[in-house]
Amino acid sequence: MIASRTFEGKRYAVLGLARSGLATVRALAKSGAHVVAWDSDPAARERAAGVNGVIVHDIATLNLEGAAGLVVSPGVPLNTHPLVERARVAGVPVIGDIELFAQARSELPAHTVVGITGTNGKSTTTALVHHILTTAGRPTSMGGNIGLPILGQEPLPEGGVYVLELSSYQIDLTQSLDCEIAVLLNITPDHLDRYDGFESYAASKAHLFAMQSPDHDAVIGIGDAASAQIARSLSARGEHLTKIAPGVCMDQSRWPALQGPHNAQNALAAIAVAKALGVSEADIDRGLATYVSLAHRMQTIAVRDGVTFVDDSKATNPESTAPALGAFGRIHWIVGGKRKGDDLDACAPYFDRVVAAYTIGEAGPLFHELLTGRVPAVEAAGDLATAVAHAAAAARDGDVVLLSPACASFDQFRDYEDRGAAFRAAVEALP
Ligand code: ADP
Repeated sequence: MIASRTFEGKRYAVLGLARSGLATVRALAKSGAHVVAWDSDPAARERAAGVNGVIVHDIATLNLEGAAGLVVSPGVPLNTHPLVERARVAGVPVIGDIELFAQARSELPAHTVVGITGTNGKSTTTALVHHILTTAGRPTSMGGNIGLPILGQEPLPEGGVYVLELSSYQIDLTQSLDCEIAVLLNITPDHLDRYDGFESYAASKAHLFAMQSPDHDAVIGIGDAASAQIARSLSARGEHLTKIAPGVCMDQSRWPALQGPHNAQNALAAIAVAKALGVSEADIDRGLATYVSLAHRMQTIAVRDGVTFVDDSKATNPESTAPALGAFGRIHWIVGGKRKGDDLDACAPYFDRVVAAYTIGEAGPLFHELLTGRVPAVEAAGDLATAVAHAAAAARDGDVVLLSPACASFDQFRDYEDRGAAFRAAVEALP
C-alpha cells in the first residue's frame, strides 16, 4: 500500500467505495488521516466500516469546510453530482486517488510515472508497456483504470516505473500529476453524457499534458483531429514530443497478441515509451513477441473445426470495433447492445470482411437496417446465445466468429466482462 505523511492529520471525505475507493480509504487511514467514507451501496459501506480509524457516514449531511479533499470515484458524474458543487462552494478540492498518488510521490523512492490515456487502447498499451518493462527486468507496477488501484500497490524500489491507465474521468479528478511520460492514443466521441460536448471531453485529455513539466515526454497518436490538435499545441516540446502517425505499415507477424491496425498504434506508442525509458531494442522486441492479450480484447477463446471464436467484448463503440474487423478475413460478426451513436460508419471500411452479421440487443433493429445490403447477410439474432449458435453453424473452416459489439453492454449484461463470459459460455455450449 502507498501511504504518506503528506496526508497525516488531514480530513478527507471519500465518496464511492468500490475498488479504488476502498484502497484510498485504507491508504489514507494508514497515513494517519481522518477519513469519513460513504457509498450508496450498503455492502460497499460495510467493507469500509472494517477499516481501522474510518468513520462511515453520509457525506451529504457533513460540513465539508476545512477538509483537505473530497475524494470521489471516477464513476461519480462530476457534472451533475450535488456534493461536488457543495465541495466547490466550501473551497474543498474535488480529487481522485490518482491525485493522492501524485501528492504522495515526493516520499516514494526515485521513480518514473507513465500516464496513458485515449478513448481506445488504454488498457492494452498500459499492459504492454508494463510487460515490456517486466521483460527488461525493470521494477514496475500498473494502476488506475486497468482495475488495480494505485494506492493499493506496494511502493517500488528506486528506479521503478509506475504505469498508470487514466480515463478522462480520472484525469478530471487530478490536478498535480506530472508524468515523466504522458501518452494519448486517440480521441473519438464517447462518454458524452458526462461532458458538455466533444470539446470538453477532448480538453480533459489535454489536461494530462498541461500538468506535465515542459521538458517531460509526450507521445501522441495523431490519427484524429482532436489528438493532432493537442500534439500541435505541444510542438515546443521538440524532441520530447513523439507523434504516432496512423497507418504506419509494420511487420506485426511476430506479435501474435498485437494484430490489427489498432494494435500497431498501441505497439508504436509502447515502443516510444520504452525507448524513452532506455529499454534496449532487444528487450522491446522480446516484450512485443511474448505479450499476451488482456481478456475480452480480441481474445481468441476457442478454435473448433477450423473456426476461430474471438471475444472482443471490450469494443464498446464503432471506433474500437473497426480495427477488430480489419484484423481478420472472413468474419461472422456479432454486433449490437446499448448503442452510443446512430451509425456504424467507423466500421464501414471493413464491411468487405464480413460474411454475415448477427445483430443483438437494443441496437439490433437499427444495425440490422444499417447493414442490410452492405454485407452479404444480416440476421436479427436478438440475443448472444442465438447469435453464437447460428454463426457457428454457418461458419466454414478458416472463418472467424467475432463478438465485437460496437456498443455498451448494459442492455443485456452487467458489464463487458459479463458479456464476454456469456460469449465464452455460449461457445462452450455448442454441440
Ligand atoms: P481501453 O482501455 O481504452 O478501453 P482496450 O485496450 O481495453 O482500450 O481496448 C478496447 C477495445 O478497443 C479493444 O477491444 C479493441 O478492439 C479496441 N482498440 C484497442 N486499441 C485501439 C486503438 N489504438 N484504436 C482503436 N481501437 C482500439
